[in-house]
Amino acid sequence: MSDLTSTDAAELGRLLTAGEVTAVEVTRAYLDRIAAEDDALGAYLHVDGEAALRTAEQVDAARAGGTATGPLAGIPLALKDVVVTEGVPTTSGSKILEGWRPPYDATLAARLKNAGTVLLGKTNMDEFAMGSSTENSAYRVTRNPWDHDRIPGGSSGGSSAAVAGGLAPWAIGTDTGGSIRQPAAVTGLVGHKPTYGSVSRYGLIAFSSSLDQAGPMTRTVLDAALLHEAIAGHDPLDSTSIDSPVPVLAEAARRGAEGDLAGLRVGVVTELGGDGHTDGYDEGVLARFAETVALLESLGAEVRPVSCPAFDLALPAYYLIAPSEASSNLARFDGVRYGLRVGDDGDRDLDEVMALTREQGFGPEVKRRIILGTYALSSGYYDAYYGQAQKVRTLITRDFTRAWDDVDVLVSPTSPTVAWEVGARVDDPIAMYAADLCTLPASLAGVPAISVPCGLSEGLPVGFQIMAPALADDRCYKVAAALEAAQDAARGSRFLDQLAARPAGSAA
Ligand code: GLN
Repeated sequence: MSDLTSTDAAELGRLLTAGEVTAVEVTRAYLDRIAAEDDALGAYLHVDGEAALRTAEQVDAARAGGTATGPLAGIPLALKDVVVTEGVPTTSGSKILEGWRPPYDATLAARLKNAGTVLLGKTNMDEFAMGSSTENSAYRVTRNPWDHDRIPGGSSGGSSAAVAGGLAPWAIGTDTGGSIRQPAAVTGLVGHKPTYGSVSRYGLIAFSSSLDQAGPMTRTVLDAALLHEAIAGHDPLDSTSIDSPVPVLAEAARRGAEGDLAGLRVGVVTELGGDGHTDGYDEGVLARFAETVALLESLGAEVRPVSCPAFDLALPAYYLIAPSEASSNLARFDGVRYGLRVGDDGDRDLDEVMALTREQGFGPEVKRRIILGTYALSSGYYDAYYGQAQKVRTLITRDFTRAWDDVDVLVSPTSPTVAWEVGARVDDPIAMYAADLCTLPASLAGVPAISVPCGLSEGLPVGFQIMAPALADDRCYKVAAALEAAQDAARGSRFLDQLAARPAGSAA
């Protein structure tokens, strides 16, 4: 990795502002690395080097001409392909949208464009964000930079592989049930799912509208805070957007890095890997988790166990609610409006063309979810399945609310296991869904949650999850930054430097 492609985004911003490097130089360094590495890694679905260099030239010209440019101007960026980008192919990982070039930008894409970031490309993902390994992409398999035989997590696995592999300094992912946090965890990144409604969903291709949320995937906690601030804030184009000020997050990360957590009350969730709940968890994951809890204590935090009994039901509740909403959201892909159209030969009627298009355009996991969701919503079953799942959702929210009486944050492992081998779970949907065990409660309750690296198991990264009350995203950043700083100090280097130090794509 060249220096530029291993530098974190905050430092790139400083170098650019100080004139020590140009946006064209940084962009070129990343494009060179993408050209050299992405055949093996498979992180991107679309890269437009010429467009990226044009944007970079404009930023450099503005800066040289003394035009005010913001702190992010000239920093390259990758967007998950679920984010709608004007004139730039957007597929959501599905054949049904192949060839679609949207006529508008998602709000977050527009905000990042206005901030002067340079779009390197669109990253691979599980089709319509359904999956935990990125193997459900209709286009390609993405590999984990720590070990090319392993999955990079999902559904934002293109974004995680790009950032961990040095093919983008940072990236946007989306998280419906864990798709920012789990891929961040298994590739050694920081990933934050913001409070539901605090980042605009306008222009994100919808999976499950009551759960979807976009957020940052980065190499450091400070970078995540900076990227999050750039996309946050009220958007009148999204009816679920919360009308509150942009949260102050970078400041929280900087304060956290000073390492003083005196008085912070931390709850360790019993149901997520605690006593009697260790089935399906790697021993190494539980060991790193316990060490990190001890580290929090050494920084002054008061730690206690907290039981959240309804969390045991998060998995079945989520796998009814998310497919139900998806079955409705995906009805718009009918071969009429965008992307693929099959069988429109003049002899077939509209229904036949729609059926053929959906038959060929959707992959197996998407079809499974549509069938599941349609079944759960149908009359006679609605109360038994969807209605019950919504009640469980309320119970989970109550567990959180009760916990906040006693603690400031809740913690758990992010993923029960490290990255598994490519192919190991792709034919076993239940095993794939089990990867979401720890991330689903925060999704269902709409509360913010961050994953921060907490060491290695079997030579592969382990993630530590910090959950906070709604709109207290700053708490996640503060605690994560304290952990990051303490671990970096003990190690004498940043977490990802361990990856750079070993031969590309090999296991430890
Ligand atoms: N793995 C979960 C699923 O398949 C979560 C996906 C997501 O957060 N987008 O639904």
